[in-house]
Amino acid sequence: MARHVRALTVLHATDHVVIVGAGFGGWRLVEALRRDGFDGEITLIGDESYAPYDRPPLSKHVLAGKWEVERATLATPERIEESHVQLRLGVRAVALDIEANTVKLEDGARIEGTHFVIATGTRARRLPFSADAEILTLRNRDDELRMRLELEALAPGSAIAVIGGGFIGAEVATQLKSRGFVPIVLEVATRPLIGVLGPEVSSWLERLAADVQIELRNEQRISDVVADDEGYAVRFEDGGELRASMVIVGAGALPNFEWLEGSGLTLDGGVVVDENLLARENIAAIGDVARFSWPNVMGEELVRIEHWEVANGHAQALAHYWMTGEGAAGLMVPYFWSDQYGKKIQMLGHARPDDDVVRVSGSPEEGKWLAIYSRGGVVTGIVTLSQPRGLMMSKHLLESPSTLEAALVDAPWTG
Ligand code: FAD
Repeated sequence: MARHVRALTVLHATDHVVIVGAGFGGWRLVEALRRDGFDGEITLIGDESYAPYDRPPLSKHVLAGKWEVERATLATPERIEESHVQLRLGVRAVALDIEANTVKLEDGARIEGTHFVIATGTRARRLPFSADAEILTLRNRDDELRMRLELEALAPGSAIAVIGGGFIGAEVATQLKSRGFVPIVLEVATRPLIGVLGPEVSSWLERLAADVQIELRNEQRISDVVADDEGYAVRFEDGGELRASMVIVGAGALPNFEWLEGSGLTLDGGVVVDENLLARENIAAIGDVARFSWPNVMGEELVRIEHWEVANGHAQALAHYWMTGEGAAGLMVPYFWSDQYGKKIQMLGHARPDDDVVRVSGSPEEGKWLAIYSRGGVVTGIVTLSQPRGLMMSKHLLESPSTLEAALVDAPWTG
């Protein structure tokens, strides 16, 4: 399935690339374009006031108190100068005019370009509780600052309700516990991550919270969260109530594409782009906001994937395509990791929760294992708990179609 599609236009020094979204993907694209030799103009527009930074540390080292948040900065003053990028920070893009080749900003300015990249990512999903304005989420540096200041004012041992036991909720709970607070994770499903990793894999992970003395409650139907003088009351549909000094919601993310309504681009659960990340010859979308055509071992499907490594891969692939006219050769294999409850979960591929799964090494009791997902006998994903080497040794199973049968004979994870 090698792809060598020739672009009709390749970037020239007279071109001006306008990137909307000064987050991880947007910044990686600036770096990749310069590294690949683009010497035209680049403008990077972002609604946050901070220079581009990395988000994963926010729920890991930064929340744990091990890193100052500035350490997550990617676009240091030196890197900004070297890359000759024009940064427009603290201003939101409100429209893209694809006929006039301009982006309109909320302050009324219009930025003209020859090429446009939509890298506006996602925002934290909020839940319709009475105390919504007081409830914290963790998506960006402003959220981190607010959480830091509020935690500083809390006494050690305070109870903190973490609504949502997914990746962010589990990471947040882990760090809060390490700082002496008492997180209580409230998950609506029968088990955390069951909708992502499927019933078996999620069952192997369920004990992780208890192993580090974090309380995890499943099947929690919350009717409301109310703030009062003493903190918060989390109210349940069955009439029960939980008191907490702070409430944090980790309930997933929503793509930021509303600003493109009326632009003429196809918006359907994300900005729809082709396998070269293009919505038009000169308009691309990358990272969390992109719903891209993904050739994979099962064929081709439209997906939107919220992984750091996917945003990075998009930035590299788009820069290469616009600089050389060559599409990606070979299959992109999505990767993510999550550090939770003192363990590292890693996954390759984009398996579905109802894919077949077989554990091929380790066990939940040992605290490490590796499992293979398959559909119709073809390997679709690999997931591990604390077995990073086995995962990487097995990556080729997803780079070209492999049957489960052959994989079990080969057993590359044992190498
Ligand atoms: P972002 O980095 O979100 O950047 C988008 C930027 O666009 C933001 O600054 C946003 O404010 C801005 N923007 C939005 N709308 C507009 C507009 N109209 N005008 C101007 N600017 C706008 N992934 C993993 O694989 N592993 C992890 O362990 C992991 N941990 C994470 C922990 C946290 C706390 C978070 C929040 C994410 C984590 N991720 C992790 C996900 C990873 O960070 C994202 O996949 C990655 O940041 C996506 O990059 P992006 O450029 O698409 O979006």
